[in-house]
Amino acid sequence: MARIVMKFGGTSMAGIERIRRVAEIVKAQADRGDEVAVVVSAMAGETDRLINFCREASPLYDPQEYDVVLASGEQVTSGLLAITLQAMGVSARSWLGWQIPIMTDDAHSKARVDDIEADDMLGSMKAGSVAVIPGFQGRSEDGRIATLGRGGSDTSAVAVAAALEADRCDIYTDVDGIYTTDPRIVARAQKLKAVTFEEILELASVGAKVMQTRSVGLAMRKNVAIQVLSSFTEEGAPVADDLPGTMIVSEEEMEKLGVEQQLITGIAADKNEAKVTLTRVADTPGSVAAIFAPLAEAAINVDMIIQNVGRDKGETDVTFTVPMADLTKALDLLEKAQDKVGYNRLLHDTRVAKISAVGVGMRSNAGIASTMFAALADRGINIQAITTSEIKVSVLIHEDETELAVRVLHTAYGLDGDD
Ligand code: ASP
Ligand code: MG
Repeated sequence: MARIVMKFGGTSMAGIERIRRVAEIVKAQADRGDEVAVVVSAMAGETDRLINFCREASPLYDPQEYDVVLASGEQVTSGLLAITLQAMGVSARSWLGWQIPIMTDDAHSKARVDDIEADDMLGSMKAGSVAVIPGFQGRSEDGRIATLGRGGSDTSAVAVAAALEADRCDIYTDVDGIYTTDPRIVARAQKLKAVTFEEILELASVGAKVMQTRSVGLAMRKNVAIQVLSSFTEEGAPVADDLPGTMIVSEEEMEKLGVEQQLITGIAADKNEAKVTLTRVADTPGSVAAIFAPLAEAAINVDMIIQNVGRDKGETDVTFTVPMADLTKALDLLEKAQDKVGYNRLLHDTRVAKISAVGVGMRSNAGIASTMFAALADRGINIQAITTSEIKVSVLIHEDETELAVRVLHTAYGLDGDD
């Protein structure tokens, strides 16, 4: 017997037909004699619809009431799943965030989970009842309903799994696992048996999004073993216990699973960054600080930074990237800082893409970056900026070369599977 948390995303819950399929999957797990808690998202599109209602009601809506409205999406699907399970002869009941309770801080619309007192719910699970939990919601310190930020049902699932000391947290979604790269770009991308928390965090930061990033950080801290797998399966498909999806675990667990450590786990592409260049910045102490201070104050995340070697006249060019969404604000702040920084021209380019290779195997292997540079040079792809971390190498290139670069690197690192 095991204790399993199952989480179903919005596409898995979109309508009664889909919910019936979800109920079948839950029933199969419960029929194995496991203790089961199910965390559900609202139906796909529902949260957006509710947000629009709030905005229409008043652009300056009260975040506490916004949470009341938004949390309703998950309340509907949790009740519907409980009803569907009961109709299949499975004992089940819903446990709303305030009933468990899932206690959060007071940061309405983006609350953090502080504590979950799961004793009553666990007692009910032990007595054979499936616990159905609306994701995304909890009760704040001020005793009101709170939501956990977009995509927060993943966090609910991980937090519940940690509180229940579950054996595994299965995240059911509309893809069947995590791939070495986007299969729409590379047909020979391979599904990974397992990846580490750190790798997923790095891949998420460069745009390969499978789970809410915050939830992965939580899973890493609490060491919750996760499996990402599809709910869009037919009867007779391999069951979750056979691990058909991708496991997200610690490096130690990875070894226990007997997964061979790859040098590179995945290649990700991110077109959501823009490049900014300041020319002829004074090559003196403090000038770089003068550039980045106003950006930091405005909470703009600067990512790749390069400063060229100083020219004769004691001047240098500084290039960096910011999220596309923050570009206008960044340019405005930099224009205002022109006197203070003392640069000549302010240039920007939105037609760039950041391509990253990620893998914990990098730690113990030299030559990962040079393989990347050589492979790109071979195809005439120009590199505009570079950054590295312990387990990631990223380059900035022209946006038009994104697909080519991903393909070339996928091959260069030996990630291509059979057709
Ligand atoms: N329904 C919420 C959202 O769309 C939470 C979730 O699905 O994870 O953001
Ligand atoms: Mg989601």
